[in-house]
Amino acid sequence: CKVLMIFPRFNANSFWNYQAACDLAGARYPAAPLGLITVAALLPAEWDVRLVNRNTEELADADLAWADIVMTGGMLPQRNDTLHIIAMCHACGKPVVVGGPDVTSSPALYSAANFQVLGEAEEIMDGFIAAWRRGDRQGVFEAPMGKTDVTKSPLPRFDLLKLDQYLHVGVQFSRGCPFSCEFCDIIELYGRVPRTKTNAQVMAELDALYALGYRGHVDFVDDNLIGNKKALKKFLPDLRRWQEEKDFPFEFSTEASINLADDPDLLRSLSDTNFFAIFVGIESPDTDSLVLMQKKQNTRRSLQQSIETIHKAGIFVNAGFIVGFDSEKGSVAQGMIDCIED
Ligand code: SF4
Repeated sequence: CKVLMIFPRFNANSFWNYQAACDLAGARYPAAPLGLITVAALLPAEWDVRLVNRNTEELADADLAWADIVMTGGMLPQRNDTLHIIAMCHACGKPVVVGGPDVTSSPALYSAANFQVLGEAEEIMDGFIAAWRRGDRQGVFEAPMGKTDVTKSPLPRFDLLKLDQYLHVGVQFSRGCPFSCEFCDIIELYGRVPRTKTNAQVMAELDALYALGYRGHVDFVDDNLIGNKKALKKFLPDLRRWQEEKDFPFEFSTEASINLADDPDLLRSLSDTNFFAIFVGIESPDTDSLVLMQKKQNTRRSLQQSIETIHKAGIFVNAGFIVGFDSEKGSVAQGMIDCIED
């Protein structure tokens, strides 16, 4: 079976395609499609897989002509292009499978696809493969939310990537987040009990990237890397050892909640392991809004001091802000500017 994986284009000017930074660094796009290359690793070894990332390269008619089946899908800012890809597949008579977070949240919008893979793919792809081999040409495969055992996740097919096209390549240690921010789809999609891979699993992923010659920036794409602090504290010493043995080939970034600032040991450990940047959802300087959005971990603290504590550990903060909560007053703009300036 010849499988063409197509990573859909992100909408212009979305958070996910900061083109100017890519231009400065000589990359075509920030992040590699970790989801699709993980799904590729779940397919039978004798199937042929090709990957086209529409954010970095053109999809040729010949690619579609080659394929027996197309697999695509992604996040909400990729929806327009995903629907376009589904239409292209129909126009040339190719069956198409769609998966990823957006179809999982809004399956009705993707009813034109032949197959839908909803939720995490690891434990349901076998069902899809069996159906395909039986000759089925449509179906829906759905994983129970937040239950997938990530220790069974395969080593992603990093070999399918053109590694020089990206600012960073992703790996994943955990899925899920223990918090309950009401605007966030992570907890709807992956649950509130963070599940972690084994240390050996992640080391094998880094070994694979290293063996392919990749060096530099690796992003831990975890929803909240410190969601399961106990597991992380067991993982970081192994990761640091791995880095030391190889003379620190990688520098890491990730996402974490602001309560990271309350744990100096963990901060030091991250810094010692060569984490240099962390995305933190600050969201709003307005305490009433933070309380209403149930982002309680951001209240009862000085946001500025917490950020300074992370800076002092040698890690810079890439801050997320959200504008437009119902509880906002006319004054939110100035408060946000002051918070950023601080
Ligand atoms: S801390 Fe981040 S990942 Fe966790 S629920 Fe809040 S916004 Fe979502």
